[in-house]
Amino acid sequence: MSLSPASSTPVPRDLQLLLQDSAVLMALFDPEDRLRCANAAFVATFHPELAAAPTWAEMLRANYHHQRGTNVSAADFEAWLASAKSRRGKLPFRGFEADLHDGRWLWMTETMQPDGWMLCIATDISQLKASEHAMRHARDAAVEVANTDALTGIGNRRHVLLRLDQMLASLHEPGERLCVVVADLDRFKSINDRLGHPAGDVFLKDFARRAQHLLRATDTVGRVGGEEFMMLLPSLGSGQAEKIIDRLHAEVRLARPLALRPDDGYTFSAGIADAQRGESLEAVFRRADAALYQAKSDGRNRTVCA
Ligand code: GH3
Ligand code: MG
Ligand code: MG
Repeated sequence: MSLSPASSTPVPRDLQLLLQDSAVLMALFDPEDRLRCANAAFVATFHPELAAAPTWAEMLRANYHHQRGTNVSAADFEAWLASAKSRRGKLPFRGFEADLHDGRWLWMTETMQPDGWMLCIATDISQLKASEHAMRHARDAAVEVANTDALTGIGNRRHVLLRLDQMLASLHEPGERLCVVVADLDRFKSINDRLGHPAGDVFLKDFARRAQHLLRATDTVGRVGGEEFMMLLPSLGSGQAEKIIDRLHAEVRLARPLALRPDDGYTFSAGIADAQRGESLEAVFRRADAALYQAKSDGRNRTVCA
């Protein structure tokens, strides 16, 4: 085997021997797609019977049977093979990732000669895949933190407003509905003043947990301010939303997150706005907020619909 010499000085090495020992997987297929030579790393991974010069398809089929080599998760192996074959050798060069039964990942390359011979070279990229996986995991965790309220564990203002924006954008059809609820704990400052800030936190967590528990999976609840929460209830009109919030009122009135006397009060007020098609986020938030303000003015511990 010869490569272009880098100088006129002869290289005292047999390249073929070096390739045989390389950790990089190498194989050569003839125009009938029969394996004609392979180095030790390729043989150790794909277990071809070199003496029989198997075709690429025969080699894969045997590996599939023995659960080794390339990991094929498709239920129908022959359909998978036909699809893989339709992509094989069609381009002068291509590279792709392949995962193996033993857990390794390979970056496989196929270099086609015009006469139909194919050089196949693969490198182990398992380490790269592991750090890619760790990075994706870290990114997902960072996104979650960015959208979560640290105290209560429910969505934060950013998250709930983003969801509201998405829900408003999907209010296309005339029959589709969305209710926006803004709820604020009543006289919360006095709870803090009497029981202390950490005790106040217990109430915030209790309210978040109850609201989340009561809502459907398609609903969203988030903490949009200190003791202010927003709930998004898709496909409901304000009458139905009011019934749900009434249940929350009833629960909260009976709740005793700390040993409160019944007349110590743990209540909230709520404003509900039925979102209109084409209405902006600011406009629907403003209407729900105005309804909340009305509920506060009317004596608190109640819900007002905009
Ligand atoms: P209203 O019924 O009119 O809503 O009265 P309020 O006392 O609930 O409202 P106000 O806005 O006067 O007070 C809100 C209080 O919420 C003041 C603030 O210290 C408290 N607060 C805001 N964030 C937190 C928090 O994370 N933890 C605790 N414990 N208190 C908080
Ligand atoms: Mg309040
Ligand atoms: Mg408030």
